[in-house]
Amino acid sequence: MKNLADKVLNLLEEHNIKPSYQRMQVLEYLMRDNTHPTADVIYKNIHAKSPLISKATVYNALNLFVEKGLVSTMMADKLEVRYDIVTKAHGHFVCKKCKKIYNFDYNYSNQYAGLDDFEIESEEIVLKGICKQCRQ
Ligand SMILES: [Zn+2]
Ligand SMILES: [Zn+2]
Repeated sequence: MKNLADKVLNLLEEHNIKPSYQRMQVLEYLMRDNTHPTADVIYKNIHAKSPLISKATVYNALNLFVEKGLVSTMMADKLEVRYDIVTKAHGHFVCKKCKKIYNFDYNYSNQYAGLDDFEIESEEIVLKGICKQCRQ
């Protein structure tokens, strides 16, 4: 069983990203936090442990990860970009009560009325409601 630091290093190398200590910290954080954190939340959590890291470093690392396809993004509230270590197509369920964002699998349907001859490049499915935990 590989430890997290090894996994982080491998992922960076697989995506042709030069593994700096800061980049490793950002990626490691994303692998631990599956709640679709915003860049600000990621920065604050890393900064709490490593006060020397700058906001720009975290933001640059995130942009690079997205550019290289290592991390995906979604907009839960249409205001802030959220980052996700899961990059394959998946849907999101946003709980109105606890604000958690859950991943779910779905099959791409490609059945959209009125979009014949359009080229669809990405698709974002966001469902909203009350999660199982909050309904109990
Ligand atoms: Zn909930
Ligand atoms: Zn997700």
